[in-house]
Amino acid sequence: MKTSRLLLMFLVLLALGLLLAGLDLLPSVCRAAQGEYRTTHNRGHGMIEKITLSDAEWRKRLTPHQYEVMRERGTERPFSAQCWNPHGKGTFVCAACGLPLFESGSKFDSGTGWPSFTAAMGGDRVRIARDTSHGMIREEVVCARCDSHLGHVFPDGPPPTGLRYCMNGVALDLRQVEKATFAAGCFWGVQAAFDATPGVLQTAAGYTGGHVKDPSYEQVCMHTTGHAEAVEVEFDRAKVSYKELLDLFWKIHDPRQVGGQGPDLGDNYRSEIFTHSPEQRKEAEASKAAQERPGMRPIVTAITTAEVFYPAEDYHQHYKSAACGLPRR
Ligand SMILES: [Zn+2]
Repeated sequence: MKTSRLLLMFLVLLALGLLLAGLDLLPSVCRAAQGEYRTTHNRGHGMIEKITLSDAEWRKRLTPHQYEVMRERGTERPFSAQCWNPHGKGTFVCAACGLPLFESGSKFDSGTGWPSFTAAMGGDRVRIARDTSHGMIREEVVCARCDSHLGHVFPDGPPPTGLRYCMNGVALDLRQVEKATFAAGCFWGVQAAFDATPGVLQTAAGYTGGHVKDPSYEQVCMHTTGHAEAVEVEFDRAKVSYKELLDLFWKIHDPRQVGGQGPDLGDNYRSEIFTHSPEQRKEAEASKAAQERPGMRPIVTAITTAEVFYPAEDYHQHYKSAACGLPRR
């Protein structure tokens, strides 16, 4: 008797579960991701994709002096680096892996002979480690992507942070870095395509173009935020042009599809270019016009001015999943 009652309860619960699952109107991709990861709304550390090379590969990639400083935690002689002079404008990237680390706007002349900054760029690009070598307790600054030693940080810097990131100039390269932002359907595949492009220094998957502050993936999936899944690209202008990135953007999706990409339907999967300057807008519009073909459906890609970009949860960053089926032309 007791057993049959339990069985009945089990069957009722099972039926209820199936009914609720049937009412779940979330797109299949969202549902799969929720099931696999639950809802961990954390972001930050996953933005940076780790690089691990063998000792022999580091020796090949770096000059002997860079190897000594960056892989053996050495210190260069003061005033010896090209970039200790505070007048160079641009972005200082890790000399070992190219990750953008410091903007020239945060550089100041500390008089020490080492390039000094008040702050690192956002997104956990540097890691702080306790360094007890040479009989001192110091805060070591390490590149979050390749774990190379960069220098130390001290609490005696000027406003606004009061910090002095005292870097080895040989560990940094000054580059002209520009941002570009694209929406072309599911951001997993879009990010993988830009990550594989030479001259692209860093990418982030995220949400932009909507009206909800700091949205979660689940919110964006419900089509109520106005946000699109997008990828923010930081690129070295000397290595790859904005036009080349636009050419790739057209190639990796169908800009003629209305209301989504392939099976991924909804405004969050729309095709859109978010421009960061009047020059980018001009180039994007010309590039879009050049894609139009007589007799073919028109390009539906919107071109709008880039606003706040909200990085997606860590588990979406550099995901490289084949589950995201981009229609390729
Ligand atoms: Zn690095």
